[in-house]
Amino acid sequence: MKTAIISGISGQDGAYLAALLLKKNYRVIGLIREGQSKELGGLTYLGVKGDIILKECNLMNKKAIVDVISSEKPEEIYNLAAQSSVFESFNNPIDTFKFNTISVFNFLETIKLVNPAIRLYQASSSEMCGKVNELPITENSVLHPLSPYATSKVAAHFTCVNYRESYKLYVACGILFNHESYLRSENFFVKKVLQQSIRIAHGLQDFIEVGNVDIKRDFGYSPSYVEAMYQMLQQERASDYLICSGKSISLKSIIHYVFDMLNISKDRCIVNPMLYRPNEILDIYGDNTKAKNELGWNYDYDFYKVLELLLEEELKNLPKI
Ligand code: NAP
Repeated sequence: MKTAIISGISGQDGAYLAALLLKKNYRVIGLIREGQSKELGGLTYLGVKGDIILKECNLMNKKAIVDVISSEKPEEIYNLAAQSSVFESFNNPIDTFKFNTISVFNFLETIKLVNPAIRLYQASSSEMCGKVNELPITENSVLHPLSPYATSKVAAHFTCVNYRESYKLYVACGILFNHESYLRSENFFVKKVLQQSIRIAHGLQDFIEVGNVDIKRDFGYSPSYVEAMYQMLQQERASDYLICSGKSISLKSIIHYVFDMLNISKDRCIVNPMLYRPNEILDIYGDNTKAKNELGWNYDYDFYKVLELLLEEELKNLPKI
């Protein structure tokens, strides 16, 4: 039985990845913040909370990471913990940058020290690409981050590449584009649109307020994206992979699709310029050929189909609203 450590297990991807690894008969250790009395709702929702060994660990403290890795002896580590909101990173840039980089250094230094054979997955992001000069994005595209979140992910990404090249560690970076699920936090766009649209449809709310909805993103489905994370650590050699659908759609078309499914008039959406970000990627989509060819990752979800699945899941869990 292999052991895997997942940081960020209380988040969206952490829960789906934990469920996937348990299905593959892994012993799964989930790292949570010190003193965290969280409900870990995602793990409970997927029915796997009781099967995971939870350990408190301050990821900003290298000794804490050395202790947990020395005692649990994982073959694989999936580093998903991060301040993951672009919007929040403009409000809190220094904490975002510190956590999203130092925690990664701590994992890399620990692996180098304790057992260089441990394989590390790092959660990189399409936000690193930022000011796009050619589409589709590939693994070789120039990076020009447009937010504190993105600069932190670029720093972490190249730190991982550097340790892979300098110390021959097995470090794979997944450059994931936006991906959604029922477990997405409420402060992210798609979840917000689904939840608030349901409230409008039930007469509990009049409007949905949004920022710049003309921008386009490449959206995918989290439960399928975590399969690619797992595959990245099963290769002969570590590498970096874009994980994306290959198509972009505008935020406005997502709102309209959800409104149509719920018979809501389009004038129930109000644009509030106060919600615009200081800087914004206008359109981005990636090329997933490398992941499909090398990882055997099969992804063919149209995002409108994903929206239908997500709305169905929200409606099934309606008593929560
Ligand atoms: P998420 O739901 O926001 O989860 C983030 C996780 O990081 C949570 O478990 C959170 O713990 C933990 N975390 C945040 N700050 C922390 C801190 N200071 N100390 C310890 N833990 C901390 O994110 P996700 O959607 O699952 O994404 C997983 C990873 O992929 C992240 O690194 C994200 O940046 C990256 N990514 C996500 C997307 C996407 O579209 N979802 C795309 C590209 C890359 P708490 O619950 O305790 O806050």
